[in-house]
Amino acid sequence: MFQSKEEKIARVKQMIYNSQNIVCLLGIGVAMECGGVNFLHERESYRIEDTYHYSPEEIFSTGFYSARKEKFFEFYKQELLSLKLTVGQSLYAIKELDNWGKLKGCVTRNMYGLAERAGISNVINLYGNIHENWCTKCGKHFSADYLKNSAGVPVCDVCGSPIRPGVRLYGELVRNDVMTRCANVCQYADILLVLGTNLYDSMVKNALKYYSGNKLVLITKHEHFTDKKADIVIHDEVNKVLPKIVW
Ligand SMILES: [Zn+2]
Repeated sequence: MFQSKEEKIARVKQMIYNSQNIVCLLGIGVAMECGGVNFLHERESYRIEDTYHYSPEEIFSTGFYSARKEKFFEFYKQELLSLKLTVGQSLYAIKELDNWGKLKGCVTRNMYGLAERAGISNVINLYGNIHENWCTKCGKHFSADYLKNSAGVPVCDVCGSPIRPGVRLYGELVRNDVMTRCANVCQYADILLVLGTNLYDSMVKNALKYYSGNKLVLITKHEHFTDKKADIVIHDEVNKVLPKIVW
């Protein structure tokens, strides 16, 4: 049955009206609409390799962080901490669902802390957050700005030990307690809103293992062969669609 974009938006609006347990999965598309970068995209990957002489997978790995902190932080500060990010309308729309008490969780692998900046309460950061860094020895916490403004390798101002960025590096597993929180919210979700990614994304595949509802809504700019598995698909920018659904 063909439905126009406006009809689909109206249907999702109605679903949300009748819902009590909404879970959002935020993909890389949401971060990119806010000014984030996909380092695994061919063009970016090539640029990184050209600038730092290592691929993003190599330089952003736990082995590289342990062995070559100087180079790691050169990359980390320049590429992740210096991005100019603006919180998009998509995130304020999710915050509105949160205000209504309908949002049970907001799951993401984006590491920029955008959902927190929008004021969303139950954010589940599968890959951590650039704003939560800690001393590897005494555990003191440090802001992203502290790291960004440090010369060379950022060290703790109490004990002088190197600071560990609060993000998941390649080669590291997602923390068990975080995976459990994700499974719990997805299990009780009546609506699953998949935003800025596709159903082939491992984060989404994992969430779908727990979700048993029949209101899987996919909003994304790029078409993918797995899209038809969703109950409703809207191909457009999340920043454009989600505010129309919510307001
Ligand atoms: Zn310390």
